[in-house]
Amino acid sequence: MPLSTKKTLAATGAALLAGSLLLTAPAQATPGNAHCGDEAGNNNNAFVNHAQLTKKLNKIEQTTGGTVDVEVIGQSNQGRDIFSARVGHGDTVILVESQIHGNENHGTEALLNLLPQWGGNTPAAKALRENVTIVAVPRLNVDGGENDTRQNAMSWDEVVADFPQLADAEPAWNYRDSVPGFDTNRDFNPDLDYVPAPEDFPGTSAGTGWYLTPESQSVRDLYAGLEDEFGTVDYFVDLHNQWNCYVVEGTGEHTPLSISGKFIADPSEFGDWPKFDYDASRRANVAVYDALQGRGNSDFGDLTLYPQDTNLPGTALGSFALRGSATVLFETSSQTQYDGSKGNGKLTKQIEIGLGGLVDSVADDSISSIDPEDYQAIPNRAYPED
Ligand SMILES: [Zn+2]
Repeated sequence: MPLSTKKTLAATGAALLAGSLLLTAPAQATPGNAHCGDEAGNNNNAFVNHAQLTKKLNKIEQTTGGTVDVEVIGQSNQGRDIFSARVGHGDTVILVESQIHGNENHGTEALLNLLPQWGGNTPAAKALRENVTIVAVPRLNVDGGENDTRQNAMSWDEVVADFPQLADAEPAWNYRDSVPGFDTNRDFNPDLDYVPAPEDFPGTSAGTGWYLTPESQSVRDLYAGLEDEFGTVDYFVDLHNQWNCYVVEGTGEHTPLSISGKFIADPSEFGDWPKFDYDASRRANVAVYDALQGRGNSDFGDLTLYPQDTNLPGTALGSFALRGSATVLFETSSQTQYDGSKGNGKLTKQIEIGLGGLVDSVADDSISSIDPEDYQAIPNRAYPED
């Protein structure tokens, strides 16, 4: 492609999934309406800290009698445990990750509410467990969660200590010296056996990542194990947060959630990935959309489609889509550092309904009768008018 197009794509990619006020809306007037309430204020205390997360997960394992099986899948760079919680024994596997960006908490809270339900004694939960295996990684970026940063906590020197071949390489483009740390959601590669090579640095948003961080390595190893066990990791869901003032294109209504199944412009650009299945991703997103319609007086129905002009092979979603997972991005309105806490309950509930609906539709296989073209009818996300 022409250089100018490439540059535009890279610039677009840098802003995508960033979700932060600073990165996505530098020139945007911030509306002060009650809908979007973007008063500054660190409300990190509204969410579980690492000690509380650990305690809650252990308690869920205990109260479900081990039906929800909690394991440590790795340690963060600062030495905190990274957990997985597995429930069900069906042949279809759904991998769900939350908080790869440390300041995006709502998905973790939703998982802590959903896991005991999935592991419960109701006939519905038992039937669900017959048909699906759910593997959740609540708060992958445990250091960023504790430090209230988007990035993990790791210096370039620490990377070089782990990978001496990078001694003369330029630091990766997604590294922030001021943190110091990495946007871990650019550290993925569809080749799970990739070994970092100096000529691949600093890289770009339109290229693949490297598995430099212990956080991405933990997910890579978990994913590889599930591939060995199931053949394909059928679904991969990544729970994020975005700027809280976006609206529905056309109506101007506030949108509390954006979703997407598109992260790769052209899979052939990255080699031969025969299991790449965009229609499966589109069906999964429609299942989420449908689950959130008709919910009384809530605005849950006003979810939108995240920008579709993306090419992000270094994200977990992009890399795992290439390997054949149906992929769903959740971008819930609001981030820790920019918002008050008043909407937390509602925003968490919204994820529970959307993700729960997806899991239900996979478990009863109603997802297979969804027309992937319905995805195109989901309204687009837009900036509010001044
Ligand atoms: Zn994010």
